[in-house]
Formats: sequence, structure tokens, C-alpha cells
Amino acid sequence: MTLTGKGRIAGIIGWPVAHSLSPLLHGYWLDELGIDGAMVPLAARAEDFSRVIDGIRLAGFAGVNVTVPHKEAAFAIAHDCDAAALAAGAANLLVFGEDGKIFARNTDAGGLAASLREKCGALDGKAAVLLGAGGAARGAVLALDELGARTIHILNRDGGRAATLAKALAPQVRAKLVPAGRDAWPAVAPDAALLVNATSGGMTGHAPLSLDLAPLPKSAAVCDIVYNPLETQLLKDAAARGHATIDGLGMLMHQAAPSFEAFFGMKPAVTPGLRAALVKVLRARG
Ligand code: NDP
Repeated sequence: MTLTGKGRIAGIIGWPVAHSLSPLLHGYWLDELGIDGAMVPLAARAEDFSRVIDGIRLAGFAGVNVTVPHKEAAFAIAHDCDAAALAAGAANLLVFGEDGKIFARNTDAGGLAASLREKCGALDGKAAVLLGAGGAARGAVLALDELGARTIHILNRDGGRAATLAKALAPQVRAKLVPAGRDAWPAVAPDAALLVNATSGGMTGHAPLSLDLAPLPKSAAVCDIVYNPLETQLLKDAAARGHATIDGLGMLMHQAAPSFEAFFGMKPAVTPGLRAALVKVLRARG
């Protein structure tokens, strides 16, 4: 099957979807590269997902990016998938082949890995602390493993969920996965070269994360994949203590680049100009 969609229309499917930055992001690259195409938001409830996918395939869409709550359903509906989607059991990209087949990919882990690599290099042999055990944390484990982490401490409010995640991913990664509840933070932080927040704590409209950074070495970098707000309380606290910080926009931009190439056939660049355009919109939204 072909993996490169030839159509000129792609979508971002989710519920809700109005907040998504994907149309803006892809629109920026379409303008920059002079491609006559469009990326449209598709609001679909969970129960309507497969019917909407059938409809847009008939309508000639090249494919869709997939966001909450459809990533597992997207993986399930596909005829074939890449290794990252298989490892995550979830897809954020569906490419519609000319042979009628749906190919599922997961670019979230690669997007986070690219963003972290850009800002703090490889993790060869070092330990990282990952907060969260949901869908984003699953991809983050794969990203930290790709960067060469020796140990990944997976901490979650619900420690049982962290244990389930570690058990599911352990056979697929080289890193040692150590799950625990949030109360393990003071014990694991002193050994960490990187802290990644992959919870929704601190996101606009959600409860704050509330993490005391004191046990973390000053040399450790702090990444928050939440990008709404762009500068979360965690990143503000980290910057005030002198840690290198990485916000969630890097991951967002890097996960979108392979999607764009699959939909529109050209490789886009993640540039300061793109970041500035996204920051402008986020600031205007408050
Ligand atoms: P899920 O709903 O699957 O998981 C939520 C996770 O957050 C759980 O581990 C939950 O813990 C934890 N959590 C929620 N609130 C708090 C809190 N106040 N304090 C501590 N932990 C909390 O969400 P996702 O994994 O899909 O998404 C998580 C975040 O990642 C979202 O903010 C999303 O916007 C962001 N994201 C960013 C991307 C990017 O490109 N930058 C891409 C994908 C996601 P528990 O299990 O104990 O309830």
C-alpha cells in the first residue's frame, strides 16, 4: 500500500476539537510551501468515529490526525500500522491509502523525542522521572527510551495505573521502568537528569500539578508537554530554580511534521517562525 496520501485535504478529528492548533500549524506549512490544500477540524463523538472516518475516506481525504478521545479507536480501525502505534496501542495519524486501506501511525513519541533531543540532547545511561500514566505518558516512555534513558521512574497519583503501564511497556523498551505513586518523588528526584510532566495537571481548566522541585538536581532539565498555558506553573518554578525548561509546543510541532508529509507529500520544517505563529495564537486565547 502507499503511505503517502495524494489528496489535498486532511483533517484533525477529536471531541472537542475547536481548541486544536493543528489547522493553524498545517495551514502555516501549506502557505509556506505553496501547497493548495487544507486541514479541517472534524468534531466527532466517540460513537460516531468510524462513520466519520468512512465518510471522509469517501470524500477523498488524504488522512487525519487523531486526538482525544479517539487514539485507541484509530489504532483499532486501521488495517496496518507502524511499530510506534503498535507499541502505544494508539494512533495519532491515519493515512488513507489508494487501495482503500487505512495505515495507522503514532508520531507523538517521536515528536517528544525530537523536542527533547533539540533542547537537552541524549539521555544515554541517565535516569528520568515521568509524571503520568495516561495516553501521553505511554508515548513519553517510548520517547525517553529512544533517547537512551537507563531508568524511567513512572510516577502517577494512582500508582496502580503506573504499574499497569510499566508492565505493558517493559517488553518493548530497553530502559528499566520503575512505577510508583507520587509519594516516591523525593526518593527518585535526586538521581534524575530529566523530569517530564505528561499529566494534565496544570493544564487550563484542570487542577494544578503541585510538585516541589527542591529534591531535583539543578542540572536536571524539566519538560512539560502541556502547552495550554505555554508556561505552566511547573515550568515557571523550574525556570526560577535555574533548570533548563522545555515546553509542550516543541512536541506538538515535531509530531505534526511527519503527518504533514504523509498528507501533502512535502517535508515541512519546524522553525522559530512557526513557533512564533503558534505562540501568538495561544497568547491571544489567554
Ligand atoms: P489522560 O486523561 O489519558 O491521562 C491524564 C493523566 O494525568 C493521568 O495520569 C492522571 O492521573 C494525571 N492527572 C490529571 N490531573 C492531575 C493532577 N492535577 N495532578 C497530577 N496528575 C494528574 O490524558 P493524556 O495522557 O491524553 O494527556 C495528558 C496531557 O498531555 C494533556 O494535558 C494533553 O494536552 C497533553 N498532550 C500534549 C501533547 C503535545 O503535543 N504537547 C500531545 C498529547 C497530549 P490519574 O491516573 O491518577 O488520574
